[in-house]
Amino acid sequence: MIKHHPSDTLLAQYCSAQLPASLSLAVSIHVDMCPVCQEKVAKQEAANAKALFSDTNHEISNATTSQEPDNLDFDTDLLDLITSDTSIDEVYEVDPVTIKVNEHNYKLPRALTRISHGRFTHVGKLARSRVAIEDGPLRSSLLHIGPGGEIPEHTHTGFEVTLLLDGEFSDEEGTYVPGDFIWQDGANQHTPLTKDGCLCFTVVSSALHFNKGLSKLLNPIGNLIY
Ligand SMILES: [Zn+2]
Repeated sequence: MIKHHPSDTLLAQYCSAQLPASLSLAVSIHVDMCPVCQEKVAKQEAANAKALFSDTNHEISNATTSQEPDNLDFDTDLLDLITSDTSIDEVYEVDPVTIKVNEHNYKLPRALTRISHGRFTHVGKLARSRVAIEDGPLRSSLLHIGPGGEIPEHTHTGFEVTLLLDGEFSDEEGTYVPGDFIWQDGANQHTPLTKDGCLCFTVVSSALHFNKGLSKLLNPIGNLIY
């Protein structure tokens, strides 16, 4: 069962389209996998719509008291036009996309099927493919950790979102299942490791800081993850 969810603040920002593209993508992938957050998002969106329409009503009632009653007709006509256009209701199916990493097949989340990603770059048991989203300092990647792989203990100068897509991994906090959405920042440090291998979607805002060992030797891993 999924235990780690985006915070309510993050979900609210997601529903009102206030998140940077890469975070919005991460939340959207999680919501697709998580019935609990689907329900929260549906409620929030309904509340947003209600608020929006009561605002509109307010404006319309103001408009009717002004000298431009024609605007009201225009708005209603436009709304009728939009709601009578049945082609808007068409739901298009997206064919599932499977990717192969180290002889292992993974089905990509629906939200990632239309966004391109680069080739996998390998460092030891880690492999990373950059997801093509231009989002300032925020970098999105698919991160694969092969069986028995681990990321040396590190903390974050900014934040790191790890969304487990397939497989399992664990750290000092416990074990994670697909769909788990893990937000880490400077307050956290962890050493993720996987027994059987896993594929994650990550959003990282700045370089990682390794706590042990020679940072020079760990730089290739840091560069891979950020
Ligand atoms: Zn959730």
